Amino acid sequence: MSETISAYKHNLDEYRLGEVQQQYLDHLLELCRENMSTLDESLIERAFKLTFISHDGITRASGEPYYLHPLAVAEILADEIGMDDVSVAAALLHDTVEDTEVTLADIEKSFGSTVSQLIDGLTKISGVFKSKGVKQAETFMKLLMYMAEDLRVVLIKFADRLHNMRTLHHLPRNKQLSIATETIELYAPFAHRFGLYTIKSELEDLCFKATDPEGYKFIARKLKEKKEAREEFIGQFMEPIREQLERSGFNFEIKGRPKHIYSIYKKMMRQQKPFEEIYDLFAIRIILDEPHSKEDCWRVYSFITDSYTPIPERFRDFISVPKANGYRSLHTTVITNRGRKVEVQIRTRQMDEIAEKGLAAHWKYKEGSDKDVGLDKFVSWVREVLDNPRPEAAQEFVEDFQLNLYSREIYAFTPNGELRTLPQNATPIDFAFDIHSEIGETAIAAKVNGKMVPLRHKLSSGDQVEIITGKTSNLNPDWINDVVTHKAKSRIRQYIRQEKRKVAEEGRELWKKKAERYKFELSDQDLAKIANRLEFNSIQSMFFSIGSEAYDVNRLVKAVRSFLSKGRVDEPEEKKQPEKPGQIESATYDDRIIETAQTANKQMLTMDGNLDNIKFSFSKCCNPIPGDDVVGYISRNGGLKVHRTNCNNLKHLIKNEPEYIVDVSWARQAGNQFIGAIKIVGEDRVGLINDISSTISNSLNTNMKSINVSSDTGAFEGTIILYVEDLKHLEKVIKRILKIDGIKQAYRYE
Ligand code: MN
Repeated sequence: MSETISAYKHNLDEYRLGEVQQQYLDHLLELCRENMSTLDESLIERAFKLTFISHDGITRASGEPYYLHPLAVAEILADEIGMDDVSVAAALLHDTVEDTEVTLADIEKSFGSTVSQLIDGLTKISGVFKSKGVKQAETFMKLLMYMAEDLRVVLIKFADRLHNMRTLHHLPRNKQLSIATETIELYAPFAHRFGLYTIKSELEDLCFKATDPEGYKFIARKLKEKKEAREEFIGQFMEPIREQLERSGFNFEIKGRPKHIYSIYKKMMRQQKPFEEIYDLFAIRIILDEPHSKEDCWRVYSFITDSYTPIPERFRDFISVPKANGYRSLHTTVITNRGRKVEVQIRTRQMDEIAEKGLAAHWKYKEGSDKDVGLDKFVSWVREVLDNPRPEAAQEFVEDFQLNLYSREIYAFTPNGELRTLPQNATPIDFAFDIHSEIGETAIAAKVNGKMVPLRHKLSSGDQVEIITGKTSNLNPDWINDVVTHKAKSRIRQYIRQEKRKVAEEGRELWKKKAERYKFELSDQDLAKIANRLEFNSIQSMFFSIGSEAYDVNRLVKAVRSFLSKGRVDEPEEKKQPEKPGQIESATYDDRIIETAQTANKQMLTMDGNLDNIKFSFSKCCNPIPGDDVVGYISRNGGLKVHRTNCNNLKHLIKNEPEYIVDVSWARQAGNQFIGAIKIVGEDRVGLINDISSTISNSLNTNMKSINVSSDTGAFEGTIILYVEDLKHLEKVIKRILKIDGIKQAYRYE
C-alpha cells in the first residue's frame, strides 16, 4: 500500500478534498438524498475519498482522471437505478482492489463486511471476463452464482458496463467492437431477464451505434424528424382523457416514447419493412401517482373507452396476472375515429418503476409488496440449476436460458383454476413437468379446454389443461423436441442419458459373450484404440451402437481379430463408400452475387502502420464498399481480410480472436468499382424492369451486372447487382429507384 493511502487509511474522515472534488461529492450526495429513504452520508464520503486517493494520477482513455469513472458508476446506481448507500459506496470502490494497492482487508476494515463482500464479488466477476478461453456458458453460470449471493453485485456490474459503453468512443475501434459484442451477447440479455428495461435499451442502442454507426444515425435522424408529429398526435389523442382525469382530480403523468433505436432496427430487419411502417408503433402510458392504487387504473380504463372504441382481443390485464418478472400494467388498444390503432398502458408509479427498473425496483419494494413472486421464482430456478452441476450442464443451461430469455409468456390453468406461467410455445408436456416431474414422466394424454389434444400441441394463453397420467413412466426421448421449459428439457435429457447407458450395457454384454467364445485377450486400452480406428468417439458409443443394433458385433469381432493377428485394424468400410449422387450443392444465389469484381489497390485503405507489405482482400460475407464502417482481420496466412463492422462473421472473430482485429479506414480515392446489391419490392406493371434498368444506366452512369426478379399476383420482388464506386453512389442509385412508379421499397441487400 502506498504511503498516501496508508497515511489516510484509518482517518479518511480527516482527509481534505480539493474544491473540485468536493463539488463532485456534494453532487453525488444530493442525488443520494433525492433517491434514498435512509442514507449514511459518511460512508459515501469516505468511499469517495478513498477512490480519489487510490486512483490518483491514473487517467482513462479519454484523458480524464480515473476516479471520475467510479463516480459516474455510483451516480448511475444512486440516480438511474435507485439503489442503496451500500451499493453506491461499493460502486465508488469497485476498481480499487483490482487496480490499486488497496486490499480487500483494507476495505473491510474501513467500510465493513457488506461493502467488502460486494467488492469481492465484483472483482471476481471481472476476473471471469478477463480469463482467456473461458466459455461464455461458464461466464453465465458464474454471473448467476454471484447474483444468487447478492443481487447488488450484478446491478453494480451493469452500471459499470453502462458507463463504459457510454464512454466507448474514446477507445480504439477494435476494442470498441469487442466490448460492444460482449455487451450485446451477455449484458443486454441479462438486463432484459432482470427487467432492467431502461438499461437494456440503452446498452443495445450503444452497441448498435458502435457496430453499425450508419444504421444508427439513419434511424436516429428519422426519429428526430417524426418527433413533432408524434407529440402532436399524442396531445390530440389524450385531450378528452386528460380533461376527464383532471375533472376527477387524478394525479397523473403521460408518457409516449417511441421504441428505442435498436428495437426499431431489429423490427425493420425481421419484417423487412421500411422505417415509416415501424416507427409509429409506440404505446401511450398513463402513470398514476400517489395516492392512487390499482383500482384507479380500472377507472382510467373506463375513461379511455368512453372516448375511443377498444379492440377486445388486445386487452391485457397484467395487474391481476403479473408477468414472471413482476411486470404489472393494464394494456388496451383502441381505434381512433381516423382508424389508427393506439395502445394505452395504465399503471401506478410503483408498477412503472418495476417495469422500468425491474430487479432494482423489486429490491426497493421487497418489503410490503404484495405480488413479488416472479423474481424469487427466477432466483430459485437459478439456485436449483447451480445445485446440480454436471459437466455439460453449463452449455445446456445457457441454451435453455437464452431460449426463455426473450420469449413471451403464456398463462394456462389447471383443472382447479390454478395459474401456471409458461414460455410461449409450451406444450402439455411442459405444463405437466411444471406441476411435478412425476406428472411429466407419466403423462399419456392431455385435454385442453375439455378436448383431447396430442401432447405436442402448443398451448395458448387462457387454456385450461388437464394431464392424463398412466401408472408407469411414459417418458419418450422424442419429447425433447416438443418442450421449451428448462425443467422438462433437463429431465428428458437425463432420461435419454440413462437409456443410452442401458443400451450400451446391452451392447457390452453382447461383446463379452463373443470375446469369451473366441477367447480374446484384450486390454481396455486396446479396445479403445480399436473403437477409435472404427471411428467411434468412445468405447461407450461403440457399445451403444452395438446395443441398438446400428453396428453389427461381428464387425467388431473381425476388427479385433485383425488387430490381434496383424497388430492393426483395416480401414473401416464406411470410408470406402462412394459419395451419394446428387449431394453436391450448387452454389447459392447469395454466393453468386458475392462473386467479386473488386479491383482493390493498395491506396484504397489506410491503417495504423503500413499496408504496403500486407496482402489484403475484402470479405465475401459482408461485401464492404468504400464508405462502409470497416475493420481488418489478420487471417492465418498473414493476409488482411476487410469486414464491415456489422458483419455477423466478424462478431465471431471478435469474440474468439480479438487480438487479430485491426483498425483500417478508407482513403479518399475514386475510380474503383465495387459490387453492390439492391433489393426492390413493388407492384408489377408492364415496362417496370425496363424503367429500372434505364434509370440505373442512363441517369447515373452505372453499370448493372444483373437483375433478377420474380413476380406473383401483382407483387414484384427483385435483386439488382451493380458496380458502384462507394456507399454514396449506392445510396444515390437507391434514391433514384425509389422514385420509379410502382416501387414500394428499395434497400441495400446485405
Ligand atoms: Mn469499472
